[in-house]
Amino acid sequence: MADFLAVNNLGKEYEGRRALHKVSFGLQQGDFLSLFGPNGAGKSTLLRIISTLTSAGSGKVEIKGFDLAEEPEAFKMQLGVISHQSLLYGHMTARENLIFYGSLYKVDDPEQRAEELLRIVELYPRRHSRVSRFSRGMCQRLSIARALVNDPSLLLLDEPFSGLDQYASAILTEQLGELRSRARTVIMVTHSLDRGLAAATRVGILAGGRLVYLEERDTIDPSAFEGLYMEYVHGARAA
Ligand code: ADP
Ligand code: MG
Repeated sequence: MADFLAVNNLGKEYEGRRALHKVSFGLQQGDFLSLFGPNGAGKSTLLRIISTLTSAGSGKVEIKGFDLAEEPEAFKMQLGVISHQSLLYGHMTARENLIFYGSLYKVDDPEQRAEELLRIVELYPRRHSRVSRFSRGMCQRLSIARALVNDPSLLLLDEPFSGLDQYASAILTEQLGELRSRARTVIMVTHSLDRGLAAATRVGILAGGRLVYLEERDTIDPSAFEGLYMEYVHGARAA
């Protein structure tokens, strides 16, 4: 079976310094990849390339056979992204933001989808408020809704829980479970060993721009993995 997501020999340099080197892996539909690694390992670079926010230096990425370089629009339609940028427009209301993104992603009924998501992230009563008046926690919940607007077949999360308040964390955890139950594919970069292992079907470690570890979650003994994690992520072992 062809991979749902195929990453082949991905490389990236910034001003001659290597950020990613020959990263290759494949995911099947319904896989949840938790990706660990020290600061500067290239985790965000990898997600930014797949998110189409940064160009790859070399290599290739395909989702459902759509090539990122050749069919970027079709590729993008498959994606949802949660990162540190909220990607929300302050001068628009919560509802308007979601309708805007829904239209961008050619969602069938953007108004209805917006209202459905506003209920899910518990912002429905505030749907007509401008986002510039929202608290940080409210923006976080609306960002989660924004990322889900097109019911993405691949959701990319870069340290999604760091800085999230408890309320938003609970909503995100619930939505990740929901996506998993519907066989949506997820890549989550996280520093939380427990959260990452709990959610994953596959577990990877990126270090020094290389994918140094990739295993099926079921085959991993959590206590043995913790040792490896400490070595790579907290410095004992060089890539
Ligand atoms: P991680 O998310 O694992 O902490 P990053 O992907 O952010 O790592 O960074 C990988 C490497 O690339 C680091 O050495 C970082 O300094 C460098 N890097 C990332 N983004 C840029 C950029 N826009 N310009 C120059 N160097 C960058
Ligand atoms: Mg990062």
